Amino acid sequence: MSEPNQLRRNPFTRRWTVYAVGEIAPAELVARARSVAVHDPPRAAEPCPFCPGNEAMTPPEILTWKGGAIRYRRDHGPAGSDWEARVFPNRNPLFRLEGQLGRRAERNYDVLNAIGANEIIVETPRHLASFADVPRELVHRSLLLYRERMRDLASNPELGHQAVYKHFGLRRASHIVHPYSQLFAAPVVPERVHRELDTCRGHFKQKERCLTCDLVRDMDRVSRDCKVVENAFFTAFVPFFAPHPFEVWVVPRRHLAFYPELPDEEIEPAADVIWRTLGAVEKVVGALAVTLTINTGPNPHYAAQRGYWQTLRDDYHWRLVILPRLPVVADLYRGFVLGTGFDVNPVLPEVAGTMLRAAVGSGTG
Ligand SMILES: [Zn+2]
Ligand SMILES: [Zn+2]
Repeated sequence: MSEPNQLRRNPFTRRWTVYAVGEIAPAELVARARSVAVHDPPRAAEPCPFCPGNEAMTPPEILTWKGGAIRYRRDHGPAGSDWEARVFPNRNPLFRLEGQLGRRAERNYDVLNAIGANEIIVETPRHLASFADVPRELVHRSLLLYRERMRDLASNPELGHQAVYKHFGLRRASHIVHPYSQLFAAPVVPERVHRELDTCRGHFKQKERCLTCDLVRDMDRVSRDCKVVENAFFTAFVPFFAPHPFEVWVVPRRHLAFYPELPDEEIEPAADVIWRTLGAVEKVVGALAVTLTINTGPNPHYAAQRGYWQTLRDDYHWRLVILPRLPVVADLYRGFVLGTGFDVNPVLPEVAGTMLRAAVGSGTG
């Protein structure tokens, strides 16, 4: 008889993942996902609204970037088409800056207006067919732009939660092929994030150590198989409790709660580890869509005003998550995952970590 599947609990979300390793071999999983991606490429919008020269197709920019310099429209007026990166509000924003929150109860339900921000960050004037075309400098630029916009939006204490979300590669839901990221700032902290903050605080209360710092130490001493790549400042690893195949976390080795507080000298080391990890992910899973998110502590101004999370700075630790989209897994288990609240992962984290680590390049490029 074969070994039973393992259950592992995510200490942040407290969700359980079933490691269904007999269901499909990692190589087969990847091969099937690739064949789906190749046979169903996205249809591109024509003309591309995010290309230089088509600025009128989007709302006016918030800022542009050229030669390493950031230029705000509010200070300098319109920038035209001469840019290397451009940030503007989403045309159909989930959250918008204009208006009042209007917190109220309607029939006993909590209701408020979706005030906040939803910005599009176009990091390059060019279309990039694959990750092989992405220079490390572009990752560096993206990190700087995320930090810039998050810092600017954090001055509004009403905006409690910020998140960056990026999709790279083939994606069937969107007809925009131009690379871009989305930044959200919301007037409430979502429940999943709340729970994570609570578990981090609980861990800190009990042990006087940050949960993520403990994870990094564990990666150095015990779970080395899960490690993908690292330098003096950042470590990339597949968490021991990863709910998704080939999910990678990139975390600063030094404790830091808030991404917007990342110092200048740590942007380059962060870009280095992220860029090498993305290269390894593409080598292993091919030209699949990859989602990147930055999970950072809630706006400290917002938290301070509400008089809670006083230990946030000590117990929360920001991270960047890289999530290859393997539609095969969703197809196999969607009903079970939606219906039961378990996650199912057919690839053990230490197997995924070993495969990715073997695919990491030398770091030059
Ligand atoms: Zn374009
Ligand atoms: Zn920490």
